Amino acid sequence: MLNIVLFGPPGAGKGTQSERLIEKYGLVHLSTGDIFRANIKGETALGTLAKSYMDQGQLVPDSVTIDMLRSEVVKHESPRGFIFDGFPRTNAQAEALDTFLNELGTGISVMLALEVEESELKTRLLKRAEVSGRADDANPEVIQNRINVYNQETAPVKSFYQAQNKFISINGIGSIDEITNRLFQAIDSI
Ligand code: ADP
Repeated sequence: MLNIVLFGPPGAGKGTQSERLIEKYGLVHLSTGDIFRANIKGETALGTLAKSYMDQGQLVPDSVTIDMLRSEVVKHESPRGFIFDGFPRTNAQAEALDTFLNELGTGISVMLALEVEESELKTRLLKRAEVSGRADDANPEVIQNRINVYNQETAPVKSFYQAQNKFISINGIGSIDEITNRLFQAIDSI
């Protein structure tokens, strides 16, 4: 299986690039943010809980997020692979992901990390707010919180994959096509 962690700060382009990757490699796309938003829309208990964190730019607690992700993974019978988009966001999530992929007889092939500097992220998120309708994109304070949480809790997850020799850094500045081609090249090199 080809199992990719598509990594990067909020606004790095993970969602956009995921669409290109699933098309080319026939992967299942699992975006924890999208799953939480679907639950909010469906007014489930999980959605109500997730919303209280997402609206503040905080992470949904690990136990909730890990259980949800695991139940999504096992829904798919013999997939070619997965793109994990927005997961793992903490070291505990990365460890849990390794454990349950191992139980399924597979593992992460590579982490592809989109690198974009902070000022560009803020510009992109405020622009996305105009079309996404996402409350967490429209408020500069919430954006700053998300970036702070990324720097403190999520960026360290890179070391987890570096230690396993599975880390590839990708320049996330350029046209969408340019960045897609960088990702294709990286995947085809593994
Ligand atoms: P972005 O990467 O642009 O911030 P996402 O859609 O990936 O957008 O995530 C939106 C929000 O959903 C996050 O700010 C967080 O509150 C919650 N979330 C998504 N994935 C996770 C995760 N793996 N762990 C905890 N919270 C998460």
